[in-house]
Amino acid sequence: MMKITVIGPWGGYPKANEASAGYLLEHEDFRVLVDCGSGVLSKLQTIVQPEMLNALVISHYHSDHIADIGVLQHARLIQGFLGKEMDCLPIYAHPFNQQEFSKLTYKNITKGISYQENDVLEIGPFTLRFIRTKHPVECFAMRFEAEGTAVVYTADTAFIEELIPFSNHADLLLCECNFYGHQDGAGAGHMTSRHAGKLAKEANVKQLVLTHLPHYGKLEQLQEEAAEIYSGPIQLAHFGLSFTI
Ligand code: ZN
Repeated sequence: MMKITVIGPWGGYPKANEASAGYLLEHEDFRVLVDCGSGVLSKLQTIVQPEMLNALVISHYHSDHIADIGVLQHARLIQGFLGKEMDCLPIYAHPFNQQEFSKLTYKNITKGISYQENDVLEIGPFTLRFIRTKHPVECFAMRFEAEGTAVVYTADTAFIEELIPFSNHADLLLCECNFYGHQDGAGAGHMTSRHAGKLAKEANVKQLVLTHLPHYGKLEQLQEEAAEIYSGPIQLAHFGLSFTI
């Protein structure tokens, strides 16, 4: 059984008392945090303590995905001073921004480990694959598999055909949806609700979660627009939304 919990559903910046991108994946007592945006460390602590994480995976170096890495490092440093025993936390990230990548290694608290497209990583019980997305900075979508269950996280991206085979038959698709159906998000490197619906449909995923949400409009409209294309279950991400699959 894999458990997925939304920590932060917001694109760009967090709403008051909430968080931007962050997702917790758990399997066999192994906990992976995926992205660590603004507010994630605060919200995470209501679910799991920072020293209990076993790995962090980062999609790209925009602030709404990495803002809380520094404070996560401080949390583990301080909990270490207080006597908690924990291993050096591996932070998996791409190496195409050396300045940002270098910050992932901090004392013996965290260590940056680079991944690239076509790498297949074994992280605890998870097998992890990556695909390069279309975004203003290098960014990678991820596919997590464990015991025949697959979760795909698109990270930030305009719609690209390559995401369809990459997401094929996923049990859960965490799909960014930063724009409404009538908008054009491609220039900003984001998808609309209709793109999310199209991806979910053509990849035959079992369920769709819309995330990286916009700060305006009626969010239910995103769900309705995606549902015009994809007939499976659709949910809007919110803090604490969790799935056991
Ligand atoms: Zn981004």
